[in-house]
Amino acid sequence: MKVISISVRIGGLSDLVNEWVQRYFDHLSRGTIAEGAVIRIERIPTTFRCDECGHVFPADPRTREAILCPLCASAEMTLATGRECFVQQIEVV
Ligand SMILES: [Zn+2]
Repeated sequence: MKVISISVRIGGLSDLVNEWVQRYFDHLSRGTIAEGAVIRIERIPTTFRCDECGHVFPADPRTREAILCPLCASAEMTLATGRECFVQQIEVV
């Protein structure tokens, strides 16, 4: 049995950089059945849910511009997605 690829989903706010994920993995998997496997990274966009109207919209909190709900212009919101990091699929032969 050998691991061919591993699909992971990483939120847009995660500090994990794609090439480092592969590099760490190559190091950690040396000598295991996962050695040589390719890491496929899917980025999940950062989205917020408006506390006022419930609208979910994409936004990048790292920009300096204030984030307002595009529907009701409220500034009260909760992070909906963006901090995920999980394995979605492992391909094995
Ligand atoms: Zn709103």
